[in-house]
Amino acid sequence: MAHNILILGAGGVGSVVAFKCAEAAQKTGVFGQITLASRTKARCDAVAANVRNRIGVSLNTAQVDADDVPSLCNLLRSVQPELVLNIALPYQDLHVMDACLECGVHYLDTANYEPLDTAHFEYKWQWAYQERFKEKGLCALLGSGFDPGVTNVFAAYVMKHELDTVHVLDIIDCNAGDHGQPFATNFNPEINIREVTAKGRYWEQGEWVQTDPLSFAMTYKFPDGIGPKKCYLMYHEELESLVKHLKGLARARFWMTFSDQYLNHLKVLENVGLTRIDPVDYQGNKIVPVQFLAHLLPNPASLGPLTRGKTCIGNLMQGKFQGKDKTVYIYNICQHEACYSEVGAQAISYTTGVPAMVGAKMLVEGVWQKPGVWNLEQLDPDPFLKDLAAFGLPWQCVEVQA
Ligand code: NDP
Repeated sequence: MAHNILILGAGGVGSVVAFKCAEAAQKTGVFGQITLASRTKARCDAVAANVRNRIGVSLNTAQVDADDVPSLCNLLRSVQPELVLNIALPYQDLHVMDACLECGVHYLDTANYEPLDTAHFEYKWQWAYQERFKEKGLCALLGSGFDPGVTNVFAAYVMKHELDTVHVLDIIDCNAGDHGQPFATNFNPEINIREVTAKGRYWEQGEWVQTDPLSFAMTYKFPDGIGPKKCYLMYHEELESLVKHLKGLARARFWMTFSDQYLNHLKVLENVGLTRIDPVDYQGNKIVPVQFLAHLLPNPASLGPLTRGKTCIGNLMQGKFQGKDKTVYIYNICQHEACYSEVGAQAISYTTGVPAMVGAKMLVEGVWQKPGVWNLEQLDPDPFLKDLAAFGLPWQCVEVQA
């Protein structure tokens, strides 16, 4: 049976989600009518044209402000999707969940809710929807991108097949690609800069330890010819749910690689106040510096043809198996150029867009459909990881020295 879906957001990630849903519809018949809606309809039309030209599948398009719940409900009533894939920005999450509850539609996103006026994200706002989704028999999948998303599923896979207990989890996100720009972000600049300039945080012996932004680093040697790279400790949203759901974790940390050039530019922008998220008065108008900066920076979707190299994102997990110490590394390698030639986007959008489609497939097929609000490590990893590889993100799990 083909399931109708609505994708919200036609940016870098939304364009890959639209492409991959169309591909899955063509190959497996899982999706029926696919509608792509966003604030700017012209961007949806451009994505639809790209999908039609590349693989001959037609998408419907629409304009909507996802923060306007009554308008979103009107769209849901006219499109009648079974599922909304929220690929707009984290600010929209609660409004889209409200509309899904009102119209009886399942929900999926790739980033947890963040209030516009505070650079702070946590799951409490979305976990608070648990009972309401359950009562309505609806399912919400939170964080079905790569990190969060695949990293949560990787953790579940390791706990199902490789380890009996886990003590240390390190999620390491390496973008070894180069877009040749002096300074650009790989996904929405405002969200990216808010995340990177926030304080770091990691889990140690039952409590959170806070660090100054990017003040703690290690060097990790990545596989597949990438080699050693400096990785910086950051707080990332999947740590919150993994610490809750993976019992016995003594330490959990998240690391990301950054080039010196990126960090130097960021430091200067911070020092001159351009990363501020509070409104400032400029010649009688209120402007938010980070939004103005985002407006000046390259659109992440425009980096597709420029980016060369690989990403490597995975989990290093130390624990016990059959009474013995064991450490495994589970990861995916993705090549920017290959993503561009397949879908017209760079690997950061691609590695987020494929798992969003796979999560949607799991949900509408009933494999992952249970009433309530779920993080991905709470669900069976095997069918998800099978489809992840089949739709462009193969992965490996190897035993390594601690
Ligand atoms: P972009 O800025 O490229 O795209 C965002 C899209 O959302 C745009 O099309 C924008 O419309 C649309 N949008 C914004 N506000 C609204 C609104 N109120 N109503 C309707 N549409 C709206 O962002 P990305 O594609 O880079 O990122 C999309 C999401 O993916 C973000 O939430 C990001 O945090 C998440 N992400 C998750 C990752 C993961 O691994 N889990 C990794 C990377 C990103 P317009 O065209 O008018 O601007």
